[in-house]
Amino acid sequence: MDIETTYNDNNYTIHIGWGILEEKLLKYTAHYGTIHTLVDQSVYTLYSSTIDALVDQPIILEVGEKSKNFQSYAHVMETLLSKGIHRNDLIIVIGGGASGDVGGFIASTVLRGVDYIQIPTTLLAHDSSIGGKTAINSAHGKNLIGTFYRPQAVIYDLSFLKTLPQEELRSGFGEIFKHALLDGEDTVHSLMSKTTENIQLESLEPYIISGIRTKMRHVTQDEKEAGIRRYLNLGHTFGHAIEYNDKLPHGVAVVLGLYIMMHVSNSNSNVQVFELSSYYKYFKRLGYPMDTLKHMDVEKLIALMSKDKKNQDDASIGFILMTEIGVCHYQQIAKEHLTQLLEELKE
Ligand code: NAD
Ligand code: ZN
Repeated sequence: MDIETTYNDNNYTIHIGWGILEEKLLKYTAHYGTIHTLVDQSVYTLYSSTIDALVDQPIILEVGEKSKNFQSYAHVMETLLSKGIHRNDLIIVIGGGASGDVGGFIASTVLRGVDYIQIPTTLLAHDSSIGGKTAINSAHGKNLIGTFYRPQAVIYDLSFLKTLPQEELRSGFGEIFKHALLDGEDTVHSLMSKTTENIQLESLEPYIISGIRTKMRHVTQDEKEAGIRRYLNLGHTFGHAIEYNDKLPHGVAVVLGLYIMMHVSNSNSNVQVFELSSYYKYFKRLGYPMDTLKHMDVEKLIALMSKDKKNQDDASIGFILMTEIGVCHYQQIAKEHLTQLLEELKE
């Protein structure tokens, strides 16, 4: 399955399928000088024979988030420059969202920009590899240093996902579920009916594809996040706070954030938008730590949410809410009211 982006210019293809890497990659590499490959260390350990058959001497990135810092960035940049990288070379980035972020940042800044191809290897990367945001972390916070830089292609070979630990599948599924909510009621119900007891990779392909389409729809209409792109932050206001506070994987925290979004959306509407207890049970069955909410430190979490860039004043916190599944709006919620709503969930 190929999806074309629909920007005004500089469009590219997102290839999705099983076992497609070699065939798709060769179509691109033929047009370039030298190919420079950056790969997550764990991914290389698992897939060295596949990768070595396709490219020469990859540059190894530290595992996951450890690669998203100045030291790794500088090390890879100097390595590429010592190899004499040229403007008409191609950079290939293989790994999860972290490798994609640092690899994209490297591609966008080395020689002021060299073409690159994203080869995502995690479920979460169905999200992070779309939209052209690149980043490394700062001592002041995550993703504070980066660029907008589109790849020449994304080759999403789903065969990589077979080696993902359950916790990483669960994290990626958080964003799959978010995209389903943005897509509408039919997608949510269909997804829930295919994942009643656990997350099975075999049943996820249609939702990965619709998730990519949903993300693309939001980012092509609003690349620099002035309008509807911010709806992609659904579940992320609370999600980021509890991710930081409880050291949870990103997408796991997003699921808790989506649950909070549902509760706040209900309280904000005359009708019940979400049947909260059925979502609670569903997420719990899939292994999400829902009980965390019973012990949460509301005051601390609200203090963390207060730091969110999207807030417009000190007395309230900006949320993306839903009036029905698939229909979002942005609203400031008074901290006092939010405290009361969160305390309710501890009972
Ligand atoms: P990750 O890249 O850290 O990968 C998670 C773990 O899985 C790592 O330990 C990695 O080594 C391992 N791994 C990767 N592929 C594997 C495979 N096929 N089999 C077994 N193990 C594998 O994390 P992630 O969850 O993919 O992405 C999270 C990152 O994405 C964060 O840094 C976040 O900031 C970023 N992100 C970026 C965007 C964006 O728009 N650019 C959006 C969302 C998230
Ligand atoms: Zn996210």
